[in-house]
Amino acid sequence: MILPGATLGVLGGGQLGRMFALAARAMGYRVMVLDPDPASPAGAVADTHLQADYQDSAALARMGAECAAVTTEWESVPAATLETLAAHCPVRPGAAAVAVARDRIREKTFVRDLGLATAPFFAIHREADLAAAMAGLRLPALLKTATLGYDGKGQTTVNDLDQAHAAFARIGAHPCVLEEKVDLAQELSVILARGANGETVFYPIGENVHRNGILHTTRVPGRVAPAVAELATGMARRVAEALDYIGVLAVELFFTTAGELLINEMAPRPHNSGHFSLDACVTSQFEQQVRALCGLPLGSTRLLTPVTMLNVLGDLWGERQPGWQAVFAQPEVKLHLYGKRETRAGRKMGHINVLGEDADANFELAEQLFATLSAVAAS
Ligand code: AMP
Repeated sequence: MILPGATLGVLGGGQLGRMFALAARAMGYRVMVLDPDPASPAGAVADTHLQADYQDSAALARMGAECAAVTTEWESVPAATLETLAAHCPVRPGAAAVAVARDRIREKTFVRDLGLATAPFFAIHREADLAAAMAGLRLPALLKTATLGYDGKGQTTVNDLDQAHAAFARIGAHPCVLEEKVDLAQELSVILARGANGETVFYPIGENVHRNGILHTTRVPGRVAPAVAELATGMARRVAEALDYIGVLAVELFFTTAGELLINEMAPRPHNSGHFSLDACVTSQFEQQVRALCGLPLGSTRLLTPVTMLNVLGDLWGERQPGWQAVFAQPEVKLHLYGKRETRAGRKMGHINVLGEDADANFELAEQLFATLSAVAAS
């Protein structure tokens, strides 16, 4: 067990690293963040911010020497970085699990090979793969870059082979997956944590709404039948076990209008759709990541209150600061901001947790706050 007083390393200095660092420091750990960005949100709250490239050998040597364990907030961190650090201290999740989640082709193939359902897909390595893939899918289809795509970036809807060729060329002919666009009844998230001894705990299932490919709200508990919840949880467990996973893992699923449950993707880290746990659960997903990383027993995931999480994107910044007064006027609403100075449309700046006994009222208040903040931004 790695106990308080030890230094924990984080690869990546965005908001996920920041919330991990805040949880770890609250528990008495020291935190070292590696991120080249001088304005890193996590660097600002860490004991040490190593402002260097992810492959900088001096920075990695220092991290390896000073940290008792290292985690990552970012699946695209170079595999060599994880492997270098793993020679010095535990790195959780491990390089192999991160490598699967980093690449949509590997990820979807891995899920399918486990016998778990995904949307029908084909791997596209080269232009010549497109024709058979288009012929094998019900259209429209989505062409998604295999790596570095997130929040709907690097994703195009294609209706025919000409469009598929054009989209592939636009993406730069990088490897992709071409997958069927399914009719979604709901999008769900299972967030779990798995310890080194295989102990696994699950957060209550979240029901997600995306806008423009970016998470907008997560409602918890999700409105799912117990049998669907059990199936979703079982699918996520299978993934975690097959990866011999240690840490917090997010599995995003589609529940289709035909009643099928499909795995869309997984994130080898705390996830945006688990931010509700910061205020609504006994143990947040970030504290849980600290616990799993340090070999501590996992904490309770019990939901203290229904909650809706609303993402706060850069779109809500107009000429002035957003109208936070409307948020603070609500006694059961919690604002979390990530300390990012530069605002951009679609950039995740923070989130809001709306707590309360009435789940429908939480959801409605979240939408109402979103409307109010949007109106202030537009004024
Ligand atoms: P992703 O980057 O794969 O998480 O996709 C972002 C969002 O696009 C998802 O949360 C869905 O709302 C939508 N989406 C992605 N793939 C599909 C699909 N195969 N069918 C329908 N909607 C999809």
